[in-house]
Amino acid sequence: MGEKETPRTFNAFDSLSPDMKKRFMHFNKLEIEAKMFRISNNFENFEKARFEFRNDYEKIVAEGFCQYCNLYHVMVLSVIEYLNKIRYDEYETGKCPKCKRENSIRIPSIRI
Ligand SMILES: [Zn+2]
Repeated sequence: MGEKETPRTFNAFDSLSPDMKKRFMHFNKLEIEAKMFRISNNFENFEKARFEFRNDYEKIVAEGFCQYCNLYHVMVLSVIEYLNKIRYDEYETGKCPKCKRENSIRIPSIRI
């Protein structure tokens, strides 16, 4: 006992059929990217990345903010990773491409 497992937000995902999993990820990708775009501070880069990854239903384009360099960065994340973390109001993830600090990027939490 004593295991410290992170609770998952959508355990039911694992029991979906492969086809349903794809559609679930695609639906979430489209909805979240559309909302994220509206609050983006970097429309052009965001739109470029969104176009580039338009056919990748496992990836989501998000905009993160580095609290050390005070800069917004467009990032590509796994849809599943994103969905697992949105229970936090804002979550920290990844390495900033500019200052290279780990977990310095804050990603907005968008629920659909
Ligand atoms: Zn930084």
